[in-house]
Parts: sequence; structure tokens; C-alpha cells
Amino acid sequence: MAIEIPSPPKVGMVSLGCPKALVDSERILTRLRADGYTMSPDYAGADVVLVNTCGFLDSAKEESLAAIGEAIAENGRVIVTGCMGNEADVIRARFPDVLAVTGAHQYEAVVEAVHDAAPPELSPYVDLIPQIYDEAGVKLTPRHYSYLKISEGCNHACSFCIIPSLRGKLASRRIDAVLREAEKLVQAGTRELLVISQDTSAYGVDVRHETRTWKDREVRTHMTDLARELGQLKDAQGRAPWVRLHYVYPYPHVDAVIPLMAEGLITPYLDIPFQHAAPSVLKSMKRPANEAKVLDRLHKWREICPDIAIRSSFVVGFPGETEEDFQYLLDWLDEAQLDRVGAFRFEPVEGASANHLPNPVPEEVKEERYARIMEKTAAISAAKLQAKIGRVIPVIIDEVGEPDEDGEIGATARSQADAPEIDGNVFLRNVGDVQVGDIIDVLVEDADEHDLYGALTQG
Ligand code: SF4
Repeated sequence: MAIEIPSPPKVGMVSLGCPKALVDSERILTRLRADGYTMSPDYAGADVVLVNTCGFLDSAKEESLAAIGEAIAENGRVIVTGCMGNEADVIRARFPDVLAVTGAHQYEAVVEAVHDAAPPELSPYVDLIPQIYDEAGVKLTPRHYSYLKISEGCNHACSFCIIPSLRGKLASRRIDAVLREAEKLVQAGTRELLVISQDTSAYGVDVRHETRTWKDREVRTHMTDLARELGQLKDAQGRAPWVRLHYVYPYPHVDAVIPLMAEGLITPYLDIPFQHAAPSVLKSMKRPANEAKVLDRLHKWREICPDIAIRSSFVVGFPGETEEDFQYLLDWLDEAQLDRVGAFRFEPVEGASANHLPNPVPEEVKEERYARIMEKTAAISAAKLQAKIGRVIPVIIDEVGEPDEDGEIGATARSQADAPEIDGNVFLRNVGDVQVGDIIDVLVEDADEHDLYGALTQG
């Protein structure tokens, strides 16, 4: 049975008020886009409409109430947020049918209300960010990191994937709009930007890499320009965020972002979904940037930026994958020495052309290959992490614990080699008064297969 993929819910947005409210709107939309929602330009096409209100002056309040009234009349399913949300009684008295009312800057609550009103039907086959579930549903991304979606859709036709038929051809967002959104996120407390799209290296291809003006400079709609500009953003304290690139296919121009990593402008991390290494499997997968010299390029990248961490994902048991193909993949992994690897057993997705390929791999063979690739990649990861013991590395704090019986406080952090939720952690002991989102240097004291253990450096 093929896996069915749900279609994404659509959100309409009416944003009133000051620049601060606009930051909230962008923040909310960033998260919703990353969650797989699409934006509706009109009331009729929206599954739910968000009205971000202003309540500063009486005239602004009236304007906000009028906007809510219009959204109720035109669509009926309305969530109110923003400054006027602090006067929930007034809103509910006038519009008893509003689905939820939340106040200014309560973006987590708004996103949760949207999830309730039009639940995101999540699927690991189309969603770009790891989804974390708790009892209440989907847990929200903490404030100190943000996913920045730069485009929608994809121009490729990988045989196991239905994103192009579901989301259409590549449609890049304007680079000045992406940078403005990123700047506001950084000013609002984001310490790490995670750039996502279906094909980050292809950013701007659809608009012929058109040039836009950003801070009196001309920037191209191109991954390299985007990476360079993101790397120059600063928060109010003059601190630069980490900038992490996901879903990068190894097109030749990817070489140009490696020096930016060596310079410290962006995080030395590349997420490249290779999916396989054997030429015949890659061919029947119809993978983009499928070229033989990729191992040479990995070696060159490491010469330029020795600390670069490369993450990838692989599918085992793709139709037609022979034992030789699989062994080729394991040997390739020995050579490539990837830092982080996710592996999946092939499953047919409804509508994908791979479902009709001959020679499906029996389930027990898939399981056996999955166990072998996991064993191989865990051993590579363990050796790479062992080599970090004794080094001082920067980490970002994700969670700070409660004091133990000796009053010591531990924290969970990540190194530059760890993207949230999909990679490892750095567990810290006795951290004192660090805060979530702090980026600090730590001494690595120990390591296992996927995680590091350390303590603050003295001084
Ligand atoms: S590159 Fe391939 S796998 Fe990725 S979204 Fe496009 S078609 Fe799907």
C-alpha cells in the first residue's frame, strides 16, 4: 500500500498596525510556512484567517474591529492576535464566532490556535522540518532558533518524491524579503537561522537570479549571496547568529559557500540529502547533481574548512537495489566519512513513479540493510566524536535543567555540527547561570556514538 500525502492547509493573513506587529506577523508566517502551511492571497481560499490587530489608538481599534468583521463575513474562520488581543472581551462581545484571541507577541499561542483550527497533516515525505510531538500535539520551535523558508516547490523529478506534483515548480521568495524577515527574527531573539527549502542550491533559478537592493547593495537571488548576507546580520548586542544550510544539492556553485564557512560567516555545516551512492540506484531515483566526483569535492571542502560537518540521509531497499549496490553505498560511506547520517527504508508514496519500478526489495532484506547502514554510520560518528575530546568548541544552549542535590545545573546544548532535533547534543555539567540561546565555548570531555559531554571553559 502506498503512503498517502495530505494537501497543505491554507492561511490568510491581515496585518494591521506598527512595525512591531509586522515582526510578529512575519514570525508567525515563518513558522507556519515551515510547518507546511501555504498562504492564501484571498479570504475564499483560506482554511483559516489570521487578523493581526492594532489597539494603540481608538481609531486603530475601530480599524481592527472592522478588519475582524470583514474576515468573519468573508471567511468565517478567524483567529485574532496582536495588541487588541489584550481586549479579548471586547472582541468576543462583538464577534462571538472568532476561533481564538491571543495578545501581542504571543506567537506560540497563535500558531497553536492555527494548528487547532486547520491541523497541519504532517508527513515526513513532504515536510522540511523535524516535527516534535508532545501530548498537546506539535511542539513549537523555541525562540532561539528559526526556520527560514526561502522557496517553495521543486524543478526535479526524483522518482520516489511527489513534491513537484504537490507543491509545483520552484518558486523562490524575493531575496530582500527573505533577508528582511531574517533580520527581524535576529532582532527578536533568534540566535540560529536554519535555511530550508526543497532545493536550497537552486534558490533563484526560477527568477534567473534576479538582483534586488538590500541595505544599499545589490544582491542576487542566489544561495551564495543569501548565505553571505545572512552571515552579516547582527542582533542589538552586535552578535551574529549561526546560519545553517539545509537541503543543499552539490551543484558546482556550492563550492563557493565553503570559504564563507572557513571565514566564520556561516556555520560550517551542510545538509546534503545524497539518498544513495551507487550510480544505478541514483539513476533510477533520478537524483539531481548526481555526479561521480562528489567524493573529491568533499575532500576539497574539508581542506578549505576542516571543521565542516556534513549531514546526509540515505534510502535503503530502493526498488532494484542489489547487494552490490548496497555494498557500494557502504564503501562510499567509508570514504566520505560523513558526520551525521539519517537512514530510511524505502516506502512507496502514493503518486510516486518509483512505485512502478521492477524488482522491489523484500522487507526482510530492507531491514537487514537498514541495520547494516546504521551500524556503519554509528561507528563513523563515534570515531569522529571521539576525536573532539579535549577540544574547546562553541555550543548553543537549548535547555537549562534544575539544580541537583549539590546545586549543580546541567544543560543540553548543540555544537555547530548539530542541527536541532535531527543531530546530536552536547550535554553540559555545572553550567552556572547560562540562558537558553546563549552561545558559549565549552571543553569537550567525553563522547559516545552521537553525543558529546562537556563543561564550561574556565575564565
Ligand atoms: S529534489 Fe527530488 S526529492 Fe527533493 S523535492 Fe525535488 S523531486 Fe523531491
